[in-house]
Amino acid sequence: MTAPLLSVSGTSISYGKVEAVRSVSLDVNANEIVTIVGANGAGKTTLLNAIMGILPQHGRITFDGIDLAALDIEDRVASGLSLVPEHRELFGTMSVEDNLLLGAFRIPKATAAKSFERVYALFPRLKERRTQLAGTLSGGEQQMLAMGRALMGEPRLLMLDEPSLGLAPLIVADIFKIIGELRAAGVSVLLVEQNAKAALQIADRAYVMELGAFILDGPAQAISADQRVIASYLGFQHASASGI
Ligand code: ATP
Repeated sequence: MTAPLLSVSGTSISYGKVEAVRSVSLDVNANEIVTIVGANGAGKTTLLNAIMGILPQHGRITFDGIDLAALDIEDRVASGLSLVPEHRELFGTMSVEDNLLLGAFRIPKATAAKSFERVYALFPRLKERRTQLAGTLSGGEQQMLAMGRALMGEPRLLMLDEPSLGLAPLIVADIFKIIGELRAAGVSVLLVEQNAKAALQIADRAYVMELGAFILDGPAQAISADQRVIASYLGFQHASASGI
């Protein structure tokens, strides 16, 4: 069996004396979409931030076989990891194109043109709006821009924190379709989502997080059929307007 692209092993993360993530282990393989579902405050964002090197952790995290402990955020980006944060963190007074360019800081100028082409092919809307200021985009377009900016660096693993947050159902469907296209293009995805229904539909495998620990993991289809998951995460979403 080939080694996982990302391997998180026995990772714990604390804010001062409060342990927000307790000894979790998770793998993401090449060409896989893996989702972490769980309620507000379960520890999902905290875990993504630790993988990216934004928060310190106790445990072992490897990417492509390399221990990340010695790598800072920039080195992690250079090795092929990228995070699209929950609040997107765009530069509102800069154009779409300039925001994208910021994502290409580590790649040579000549390759940046290719990256623009690929990102614009995935998100034609961004191409149409390339001179527009990021702050004037709709919520869905801003999410596309945040993803596009992360993709400009040509990551092998894209971590997405709540990409559907605050978006209308039709836009959520668009975003999830693009996540599927990323896998087809050879980018692995680690997806954190409160919209468990949409996430489980697209993912290959899933982890369910509660109070800082994984309580369940397995193929996404099996997780969708688990009675605890249906009761806690899917029942409400079926009845809500979340759509997909
Ligand atoms: P959400 O979707 O609401 O972001 P989450 O599953 O991503 O939920 P986290 O944001 O990782 O959860 O939060 C995990 C726990 O850590 C929560 O109890 C939260 O209150 C706590 N926490 C998060 N950020 C901080 C911080 N900067 N300082 C102290 N505690 C924090």
